[in-house]
Amino acid sequence: MPLSRDRCVCLRKVEYSETSQILTLFGRAHGIMRVIAKGAHRTTKQGASKFGGGIDLVDIAAAVFTLDLERQMGTLCEWTLVEGNLALRRDLRGMYLAQYGAELISYLIEEHDPHPQLFDRFELTLRELATPRQEEAFLAFELDLLRETGYLAELAACVSCGSSISEREPGYFSPNRGGVVCRNCEAAAPDRFSIDPRLLRMVQSILRLPRADGDVRRLPRLTRHQTDPINRLLAGHIQHTLGRRLRLPAYVLDDGK
Ligand SMILES: [Zn+2]
Repeated sequence: MPLSRDRCVCLRKVEYSETSQILTLFGRAHGIMRVIAKGAHRTTKQGASKFGGGIDLVDIAAAVFTLDLERQMGTLCEWTLVEGNLALRRDLRGMYLAQYGAELISYLIEEHDPHPQLFDRFELTLRELATPRQEEAFLAFELDLLRETGYLAELAACVSCGSSISEREPGYFSPNRGGVVCRNCEAAAPDRFSIDPRLLRMVQSILRLPRADGDVRRLPRLTRHQTDPINRLLAGHIQHTLGRRLRLPAYVLDDGK
């Protein structure tokens, strides 16, 4: 079987046996793929692990692997660490956001469907998650990912009547309807909850920034007071659309919902 090479980030790992792991990788040129890392825990006579000391979540590496598309599972042959995100690993909040980003990528992107721009954005975002700009960096990435994969909720105009949501009136969001509803239509959406219209406006302004622009200095400075309600809204929308629970919101959001 021919060998393939790619720059990859590790999104998920599951212990497979005493010595092996099954990894979900996001390759810049190959997209999402699952590979088995045989002997990931085995050390050589020299005391080194076959994959350079083990493979951690959100590690970025130059990977060599075989891909058998019929078997849906490749085999990892080499893993040469390029970026271990050491600063990020010392920041608990940043690390939770990084793992949430990885979870979203693994759920929202189909296997073997390359998204090189999103890969570059995620790599850049991982760097920013170790800085005081982590909240806005994560939100901007999350919005890009949702827009690129078609999972972005309608946040500008009422999904029921189409009127735009004014900043002077209360705003509502309905996961069932997949977007915001205005004051006149909110009674017809029993699952709606209120959302500060200023936060919706802030999201619109981030969405209007040039696409794939990794420069976080152009983003507004945000605190968790602002990002928690938006992250909660988006997580609710994604879970409703996919029909499955996400694991990481419990660690990322204040009340875990
Ligand atoms: Zn309406």
